[in-house]
Amino acid sequence: MSQIEEQEIKYLKGVGPKRAELLEKELGIRTCRDLLYLFPYKYIDRSKIYPIKEIDSNQTYIQVKGKITHFRIEGQRYKQRLVAVFKDGTGALELVWFQGTQWVTKNYQPNVEYIVFGRPSIYNGRLSIAHPEIEVPSPDDSLLSTQLQPQYSTTEKLKTYFFTSRTIHRLLAQVLTTIRLDETLPDYLVSRLKLVSRDEAIRNMHFPENTEHLRKATYRLKFEELFYIQLNILLQKSRRQFWSKGFVFSRVGDYLNNFYKTRLAFELTEAQKRVIREIRKDIGSGKQMNRLLQGDVGSGKTLVALMAMLIALDNGFQACLMAPTEILANQHFTTISRFVEGMGVSVLLLTGSTKKGERQQLHEQLRSGSLHILIGTHALIEDTVQFNNLGLVIIDEQHRFGVAQRARLWKKTDNYPHVLVMTATPIPRTLAMTLYGDLDVSVIDELPPGRKPIKTIHYYESKRLVLFGFLRNQIKSGRQMYIVYPLIKESEKLDYLALEEGYEAIVRAFPPPEFVVVCVHGKMKAEDKEAGMQLFIKGKAHIMVATTVIEVGVDVPNASVMVIENAERFGLTQLHQLRGRVGRGADQSYCILMSSYKLSNEARKRLGILVETNDGFAIAEADLKLRGPGDIEGTQQSGIPFDLKIANLGQDGQILQYARDMAGQVLENDSILEKPQNAILRKQLTAMTRSSVDWSTIS
Ligand code: ADP
Ligand code: MG
Repeated sequence: MSQIEEQEIKYLKGVGPKRAELLEKELGIRTCRDLLYLFPYKYIDRSKIYPIKEIDSNQTYIQVKGKITHFRIEGQRYKQRLVAVFKDGTGALELVWFQGTQWVTKNYQPNVEYIVFGRPSIYNGRLSIAHPEIEVPSPDDSLLSTQLQPQYSTTEKLKTYFFTSRTIHRLLAQVLTTIRLDETLPDYLVSRLKLVSRDEAIRNMHFPENTEHLRKATYRLKFEELFYIQLNILLQKSRRQFWSKGFVFSRVGDYLNNFYKTRLAFELTEAQKRVIREIRKDIGSGKQMNRLLQGDVGSGKTLVALMAMLIALDNGFQACLMAPTEILANQHFTTISRFVEGMGVSVLLLTGSTKKGERQQLHEQLRSGSLHILIGTHALIEDTVQFNNLGLVIIDEQHRFGVAQRARLWKKTDNYPHVLVMTATPIPRTLAMTLYGDLDVSVIDELPPGRKPIKTIHYYESKRLVLFGFLRNQIKSGRQMYIVYPLIKESEKLDYLALEEGYEAIVRAFPPPEFVVVCVHGKMKAEDKEAGMQLFIKGKAHIMVATTVIEVGVDVPNASVMVIENAERFGLTQLHQLRGRVGRGADQSYCILMSSYKLSNEARKRLGILVETNDGFAIAEADLKLRGPGDIEGTQQSGIPFDLKIANLGQDGQILQYARDMAGQVLENDSILEKPQNAILRKQLTAMTRSSVDWSTIS
């Protein structure tokens, strides 16, 4: 990277230390390079000037040409605003300022022709533009007056210092007229993939000659961004495979065979069989397995995991399973113990509530090797937990474990155990390639036979009586149901209030002794919570009113209705998770989304998607598109820099796949990037990862 790019922007004309400080604080821009990579969030076609009479407040951005007729001050003393009436011969609108009014009246005069840009809105019944950008029409300002005018996001604070999108654009003009940017991809890639040079790309981002140039520039920069991420991940993967020898599980012995022959009351689905084959291939290869197993709730992942563990046992190794919550660990423990009962497999549970005495015994059995399978929460990663010969780690992840936590489990043995990460929240492919890019991926995309797809219905509040009637009918035919309330930290107090009121209303509608309603939430004492859960699990309670504590919790096949209150407040994947709590038995199951009439567009879309599909992958993709990857739980812990500057994982799946393929090809020809033509790749990777943790030994 050239020296000039590293130069601080405070040395640019018109910036100076004070504005530089502001820019760094508000936008994180310190160097010229930072500035060059501040890409416009959109481009406006500035060849179009609107007549005022054609403008309405639905337009996001407009450009008008005319004159200010007069200024006036409106409002009370401390809430004054400056208003200018602006006319163009077809109509009038108002320009409004809340701050910096002196500067405005000093710099703009009535009866001078201006071009005004901004977002129109209706205020007090009149069309107005708040804090508009104003300029004098100037035919000769050629560099800045391209037809595609880039728009940079600024902040309110910057705007009050008159640091607008336009100001940023001017600074970029200053920088780009003085330097040529170095290439950051090897020449052979640039020419083979027909990419534009970095210099051309960045220039065109800020000063696009036309849409075609802009498209090529965007493509080149997106490709580069995704390419380096993939190169980094794949390089780590090839290093790890080089350094760590995997245990070879070559035998299929009595444990698995007995289990298969005597314990399985059903046929495995084709998807389960395929995944087991994939796993067996990995663990027999002499390389360490690192596999991600994706599949919707109830698709039979746990069973696959159990079979993998039995193979480990057949080869003389121990196995462990780590779950994100105590409830889930308990549940895994119960299921697995039941499955292997009488087979001579010893299974124990370790969680935060395991008593000290039990714990000591457990530790001893673990060290001596007489304990085969250990199931638990993150209590498993404590240093005191030492295995005799851990061969396989299963992580039921649900997005809750960070990469670093996973790494601590690996480190429990000299040689890395095989690792299988299960996730019930399907991750869109693009995100998986990035978050878990060094893991191989298996997918169970088929539910066990006989399951009826869950029917999802969206009701507004007015249908509450209909809902209660429906629930009563379901109870009469022997079903149980959940009613879930949102609980969010920021509004915890109010949320608990709503839960309590809701609970009381439900008890009134479903009074004892005919009906039994239990309430379960995170603030209850553990015993009370457990007692409530047990009543429900044993079928003695008809309705469980709960917060999201049940999201990953209970497994009650007889529960066939999930009612989600204030459904608009939940995220898509969370709603899908909750819905996955029903539909486990043979009966028709229902998910009912209750919401108020007031819905944001996004919430309406979310609920619509859920009503439309049961496919977890489709939902995950939609979620990524609606929210972007930054918000998706778990991305923060990935260890991979996620502040993508230009690429978008929701939209650029194809470029991502291509970038990954290209990175793979590069490494195929030069596995540790030692050839001279790849020196540039090495240099870039080092610069990229210098400041971050060394994740190469981790996942
Ligand atoms: P997941 O872990 O993916 O949520 P589980 O492994 O817990 O799914 O399976 C859900 C339920 O389906 C369990 O009761 C399990 O015994 C059952 N199951 C798993 N595989 C099959 C299959 N092939 N046929 C019928 N039932 C199955
Ligand atoms: Mg499960």
